[in-house]
Amino acid sequence: MKLKKLTALLLSLLLICAICAPAASALDRGPGYKNIILMIGDGMGENHLALAKQERGISLYMEDHCDVRGYSKTRSASNRVTDSAAGGTALSSGVRTVNRYVATYVYDPLDWFSHPCTLAEVAKKCGMRSGVITTDATDGATPASFSAHTSDRGNSTDITTQQMQSDLDLIWGGAVKTFSADTAASNGFTVVTTAREMQSLKSGSRSFGQFDYNAMWHTEAPAGSDSPTLSQMTEKAINLLKNDQGFFLMVEGAHIDKHSHGSNDADNYDTKVANAAEAVEEFDHAIEIAAKFAKRDGNTLVVITADHETGGIVLRDGKYVYTKSGHTDADVPVIVFGCKDFFAPGAHIENRQVSQRIGALAGFDKNVFPTSDPGKIPQYFLDITSLTPAHPGSIDHLRDIASLTQTLFANLFPKK
Ligand SMILES: [Zn+2]
Repeated sequence: MKLKKLTALLLSLLLICAICAPAASALDRGPGYKNIILMIGDGMGENHLALAKQERGISLYMEDHCDVRGYSKTRSASNRVTDSAAGGTALSSGVRTVNRYVATYVYDPLDWFSHPCTLAEVAKKCGMRSGVITTDATDGATPASFSAHTSDRGNSTDITTQQMQSDLDLIWGGAVKTFSADTAASNGFTVVTTAREMQSLKSGSRSFGQFDYNAMWHTEAPAGSDSPTLSQMTEKAINLLKNDQGFFLMVEGAHIDKHSHGSNDADNYDTKVANAAEAVEEFDHAIEIAAKFAKRDGNTLVVITADHETGGIVLRDGKYVYTKSGHTDADVPVIVFGCKDFFAPGAHIENRQVSQRIGALAGFDKNVFPTSDPGKIPQYFLDITSLTPAHPGSIDHLRDIASLTQTLFANLFPKK
């Protein structure tokens, strides 16, 4: 009897290791979309779209051509107002976590036992190609949430090392000091630092882009810069990734958030508004490219959302203006191309449900993504979690612990 339990324990540990081991053999994918493009406008609330239209005198492709539109609730496991690490984790891994944690569980921030697998990682396990591109530095919280697992978004060395050792096909963004061209090359990455080098990449190659952080978010690369813009990166990435087995691509417009921070600085207010609006427009250009590819392809799901709102934009005296200098808890848009029944129009879903739905529509095995499924929580925990929390976040903490306990017990004492 004791031996049986020990064997069961060892087997379950092996199973947990196997699920997240980097060299795991290919997983089968159920029926679903061949290609998935997830686009994250960092800090992009509903009114950022209105602000961009007001400032740039434009209409937005994402609004005018989408199939269905709703909202995401952005709270993290620890805070009513999330940061980009916990927000990115919900969107990458289908689980809520604590602010600053990067794709790690609430109960295991140091990744001693296990971490949630990200959409980008599961895609690779399913034999798809997979990439992450951003206007942020490559070690930024959002790209990191798809390609690394660490207890703090500031662990740049840890994040970059994991990215350079990952099996992703492309990781492109702003240059970081912790990057080593030699290490990346030794793991099969072609290193590119200019738009020209990026454009010369051939399909099937794996590449690490280290571009100019200050250039990519503009609608046109600034004079003297040899970096690509986000829309150029998106177009090239799709061309490089497309193949018979399908692909996953995450595209982040990071500077919508960056220019929306510190709007209480009166001297720079007008510049910040102009820059945020331009960053939204360039993000929309990237969306147009992805959406038109999806339309041509006919088997591609494109989901656009944000990790949180930044700046508390409101309509005041007929003008959209910032009212906060940092992140807010406002619900953010979820805009979908290629799928009319992603949710009911106008629905408000939780941030982690966005990636859970994507995983399901990609045909990913439910035992692999998300690795912490709220549906597996026992009823007595659900009773607790249905209460309105006095401290928002504590409920999610309970949910995650409940889910871990459930998973452990299910592995230790499998039902006959
Ligand atoms: Zn921010």
